[in-house]
Amino acid sequence: MADARRAARQRIESLQRAGVTGVRKSRGVQKAAPAAKTPGGEKGKSAAKPPATSQPTEAIAPVAKAVETTIAAAPPLDNAADRNAALNLIREKVVHCTRCKELCTTRTQTVFGVGNPMTRLVFLGEAPGADEDKQGEPFVGRAGQLLDKIIEACTLKREQIYILNILKCRPPGNRNPEPDEAANCREYLEGQLDIIRPDFICCLGAVAARNLLQTEVPISKLRGKLQTWRGVQVMCTYHPAYLLRNPAAKRDVWEDMKTLMRAMGVDVDKKGS
Ligand code: SF4
Repeated sequence: MADARRAARQRIESLQRAGVTGVRKSRGVQKAAPAAKTPGGEKGKSAAKPPATSQPTEAIAPVAKAVETTIAAAPPLDNAADRNAALNLIREKVVHCTRCKELCTTRTQTVFGVGNPMTRLVFLGEAPGADEDKQGEPFVGRAGQLLDKIIEACTLKREQIYILNILKCRPPGNRNPEPDEAANCREYLEGQLDIIRPDFICCLGAVAARNLLQTEVPISKLRGKLQTWRGVQVMCTYHPAYLLRNPAAKRDVWEDMKTLMRAMGVDVDKKGS
């Protein structure tokens, strides 16, 4: 309970510090609005009712009140321009971030995320690799090219979805993110997701899945069925880099993607693997 309160307070404070004013505070209980356009593409204007909110705890009450006041005065972020503007406020903080003492000195640049802020589907990886660190964009190396193929097989285009990572800075030697690094970067990740408000998240690999869902359950047990995180449906599957080393696992990933696409209302059953 104390963890949940701390997480809620951190999220509210982080968004407020970032100057984000139009984000609903309790997405977890909010039912997603039906999509008005293509299943893989942009959502129409949200018709969702504001979520039922519980009384803020004493500790977060002052911040929550300030945010509620601001939210009440501001329109929801239901268009791409507003969402991009809000994302850019967080991006600006990320560019100058020095929370991880090692990563902020070894990175070439931060890798914030890219894509359509109105999307229903977000792909979440673990951290930038060498190519991403160089180019400043997630999933641009060999694993990224394979991800593009997976997205294409789902009859979607990269421009229709949003791609981001748990960490915005490359760990040296592509080591796994340390828990404190993931915790440091969590505020940015949650800020991005709060602005984009996806209906679906696809976690690519064990690190992304475990960090988002805060679980130690292995990826082999998480994959294959939809999980839920704060009201968002989450499919966990293998990372494209793992598929490059273990091509036989592509079949599992394709099954996962078909399950995800069916949930989104996208017909991919006639396509092969
Ligand atoms: S990984 Fe995230 S928290 Fe750590 S220095 Fe980079 S931007 Fe900051």
